[in-house]
Amino acid sequence: MDLSTVTRIIPARTRSDLIALGPTVVPLAGGSELFADPRAHLRALVDLQTLGWPALTITEDGLEIAATCTLAELSRLPMQAGWAAHPLFYQCCTALFGSFKVWNVATVGGNLATSLPAGPMITLAVALDAELLVWRGDGSDEVVPARQFVTGNMTNALAANDVLRSIRVPLTSLQATTAYRKIALSPLGRSGAVLAGRVDADGVFVLTVTAATLRPVQLRYSELPAADVLAGDIAAIDCWFTDAHGAADWRRAMGLLLGEEIRAELAASTDVASQS
Ligand SMILES: Cc1cc2nc3c(=O)[nH]c(=O)nc-3n(C[C@H](O)[C@H](O)[C@H](O)COP(=O)(O)OP(=O)(O)OC[C@H]3O[C@@H](n4cnc5c(N)ncnc54)[C@H](O)[C@@H]3O)c2cc1C
Repeated sequence: MDLSTVTRIIPARTRSDLIALGPTVVPLAGGSELFADPRAHLRALVDLQTLGWPALTITEDGLEIAATCTLAELSRLPMQAGWAAHPLFYQCCTALFGSFKVWNVATVGGNLATSLPAGPMITLAVALDAELLVWRGDGSDEVVPARQFVTGNMTNALAANDVLRSIRVPLTSLQATTAYRKIALSPLGRSGAVLAGRVDADGVFVLTVTAATLRPVQLRYSELPAADVLAGDIAAIDCWFTDAHGAADWRRAMGLLLGEEIRAELAASTDVASQS
């Protein structure tokens, strides 16, 4: 859809070009969400893609994903030795059921910044304990744990003139064993529940519940919990919600079912690993 009140697109070349951001001037990444609805308050967009950030940077400490990395680029992330969590990247990319056109423009940062409950880059970032680098409008930098970034349905830790710069995934998470489950009311529908589990080398188990809840919920244990303990903690989650993509009671039931499937899968795979 045309944004008919927008009269200027400013191609950002350096951080100083972001000074134009404010209530009526917002970042443009892939535009797949921005151009989906009328936004009569907008006057200009600041294009982030012209900053030319490298999409994916492998470091000694893990992986840095530029906010402007597209889902298509992330889905092709090359496997590295020891990265047992590698399948989770493709799994989360495919939780966004856009066509190839959407995949080729939609960015990781745009997905996080939109902060829909069904944002699969939120699932990925929280599940892997990523840290988000935020460029604040006052020129300062802030590192925000992914689990604290999304605060509700389309709300997050960004102020009007802030920009999400990158997503840093620690090596320990990349080396973890993961399991993933997603369900939607229709085969091509928006996710009703997306859950991801992770077991680190030291046995820590982390379950992330998204899409079924208004904000991501992370449950963390020093080792794989017993089934009844995990079920009790999932049942106690207080932010299941109802919309066109599922009722709250169905989402809660799916959380319980899929959470137990993930626990059982990871129990089996870590058991096999310890015997070999
Ligand atoms: C067919 C279709 C299916 C979709 N399915 C899903 C789905 O299943 N789940 C889902 O979550 N979304 C879905 N979307 C919405 C959207 O495509 C995604 O959220 C996408 O990842 C947004 O990324 P973008 O780069 O296109 O963002 P844009 O549209 O460019 O921007 C979206 C918002 O984020 C802001 N923004 C973008 N980048 C940054 C940044 N680095 N820092 C600060 N603010 C920023 C923009 O100002 C804007 O407010 C779908 C869209 C379509 C068209």
